[in-house]
Amino acid sequence: MKLSLASIILLAVLAVIGVYVYQNYASGLYYMAGRYDWMMNPYGVDPDAPEPTAGDTSFHRSMFIADLHADTLKWERDLLNRSMFGHVDVPRLAQGNVALQVFTIVTKSPLNLPWNSCVSARSPDTNTLLFFMQGRPVAGLRERAMYQIERFKDAVARSREPGSEIELRLILDASDLMQLVADRMQGDQVIGGILGVEGGHWIGGPGASTEDVRADMQELFDAGVRQFAPTHRFDNTLSGSNEGCSRYGLTRHGEVAVQTAQELGMVVDLAHISQQGLRDSIALLDQPFNISHTGIRHACDPPCVPDRNLDDDDIREIVRNDGIIGVGYWPQAVGPSVWRIADVMQHIMDLAEEEGVDQPQHHVALGSDYDGSVTPMIEVSHLDVLTAITRRRDQPFHPEVTRDIFGRNACRLFATVLPGGDPDFARDLCGQLQHAPAAPVPED
Ligand SMILES: [Zn+2]
Repeated sequence: MKLSLASIILLAVLAVIGVYVYQNYASGLYYMAGRYDWMMNPYGVDPDAPEPTAGDTSFHRSMFIADLHADTLKWERDLLNRSMFGHVDVPRLAQGNVALQVFTIVTKSPLNLPWNSCVSARSPDTNTLLFFMQGRPVAGLRERAMYQIERFKDAVARSREPGSEIELRLILDASDLMQLVADRMQGDQVIGGILGVEGGHWIGGPGASTEDVRADMQELFDAGVRQFAPTHRFDNTLSGSNEGCSRYGLTRHGEVAVQTAQELGMVVDLAHISQQGLRDSIALLDQPFNISHTGIRHACDPPCVPDRNLDDDDIREIVRNDGIIGVGYWPQAVGPSVWRIADVMQHIMDLAEEEGVDQPQHHVALGSDYDGSVTPMIEVSHLDVLTAITRRRDQPFHPEVTRDIFGRNACRLFATVLPGGDPDFARDLCGQLQHAPAAPVPED
């Protein structure tokens, strides 16, 4: 593309204006980025939610709780400080008794334009504006990812300094997971964090070779990423998305990325991927995987959005192939009632039972999508509300089923897939979580 002299001058003028505005109004922009976060990540607590009894709360506190998806690193809040807005930080995770949280990294969020029936990669990217306002790197999606990884590691390091009440620990392999379980069982205030990528859009771009794709995956692994979702809400170079405009399956580069993730010891996350991409990935995988955050199409009444959710055939395919489905808490995933969260879990278990899988409840987990620009119906600090729902519905979940869904399944997934892990180790490690003692309640 050749630029005319006039365009070059125009771009130069815009760049000078941009730098001027940024230098003079950076603090104002930063404040606006915080307001945007406050606006995008509210709670929509359902008035029909049950009030947990002392029994619900003590059972809740006896569980090892894991959540497969939160986009908190996208925002500028300090993970270690309790925030007045947004969904997740370490103090609130501790209050909700979360032991293990996957922190996912978003790098590009094109606007879902009202006149389009799909999300196009060419639509204006809201993350570019957000990151500019936050003073983060704007150029390069890889750079945006690396910045969020460093930000997380900085919080981990600070949480280990004297005076910090709760440790945040990066989980990289099976032995880290084992240590986390052991430390929590003796009552230590420590929360494990796993880094995940939501959309590897910069991987396998024009001119990339298979070796380039492998190198990009290795770079993520070396940086500490242990969960990898090829796509987000738009079609990219690895696969089509279930909200994308073409919705194709895994590309050749996508196959290499999924295969490499598997070889390295990363969990493959098939949230957001097209139906064809889901099937292509499952055919390649011989290890457990997850759909980190989703709802289902069955009984998906407005404001539930069928497109981004799993249909019954998808669910059958996933449970037959050792996949775990993280159920979200926001109305576009499950519908307008908190009680539907447990109904969705039950529906997945019913289909798994029909498929004749060994333990139907082994295929369900928590996938909150906290801080993912959604309006969850349950606060992380009051996650015992969800426990109460599983105990009070017409057909209450067996306590062991609730323990599996709330954390043991995620424990088994990571203990199987992370480096040093395998199914026997996972069974031994996560099985002992049956009798985990109550964690102490942190002071407010
Ligand atoms: Zn998502």
